[in-house]
Amino acid sequence: MASDIINNIKRIKQRIIEAEKQYGREEGSVKLMAVSKFHSVEEIQKAIANGVYLFGENRVQEAIAKFPELIQTFPHIKLHMIGSLQRNKVKVILPIVTCIESIDRIELLEEIDKYATKLQKKIEVLFEVHTGEESKSGFTSFEKLCEAIEYAKNSKFIVPKGFMTMAPFTEDEELIRESFKKLRQTAKDVKKKFPSLKLTEFSMGMSNDFEIAISEGSTIVRIGTSIFGERVYD
Ligand SMILES: *Cc1c(COP(=O)(O)O)cnc(C)c1O
Repeated sequence: MASDIINNIKRIKQRIIEAEKQYGREEGSVKLMAVSKFHSVEEIQKAIANGVYLFGENRVQEAIAKFPELIQTFPHIKLHMIGSLQRNKVKVILPIVTCIESIDRIELLEEIDKYATKLQKKIEVLFEVHTGEESKSGFTSFEKLCEAIEYAKNSKFIVPKGFMTMAPFTEDEELIRESFKKLRQTAKDVKKKFPSLKLTEFSMGMSNDFEIAISEGSTIVRIGTSIFGERVYD
């Protein structure tokens, strides 16, 4: 319900501010992303009207059905691709996203480079790292991750910004925390090899674990259910 969305956004923003305070994070250092998959354009508009400007979608078809018009009406909003991406979908998603968070192989970057060059559009990327047993996506090899970062570094239109991960789906807080710590450690190791890159974004934390993520250094929390309610899969 629309009134729920308004209250949910207020509540989540408040919880982010409190977590920033509690864990010694700088005020405003954590961005709120509304994950709008399976939710309607009307619901997204409600979120926009209540100050949300960053959105995440994980399926290309759905994103290109909903967002081109929204972006035209609200040019200040940003859309990030957060789901696993097939090479042949890169071409259609690039015009409507500012960032692809789910880079898990170099082949995707080659495709992004090709079409970003055609569009003459800078595309930010985050490198998705596999940090928890239950999630399937993300780099598992540090060498492959570094090869991908090297490629991104040398591309004119790809802007490497940082890292993304999904914690395991579990009630076990320590397992979740381990996952976020792993991402931070991987980032540290990467930064030793690429001291010139500003890899400052950490996209980690969802409805159930974003406060843990903030305590571990998250800069983008990806919130779906706690803003829009349960998703109805048809
Ligand atoms: C769906 C999704 C989210 C949001 O999950 P909620 O638990 O609904 O907050 C965050 N990140 C990714 C990659 C997702 O696919």
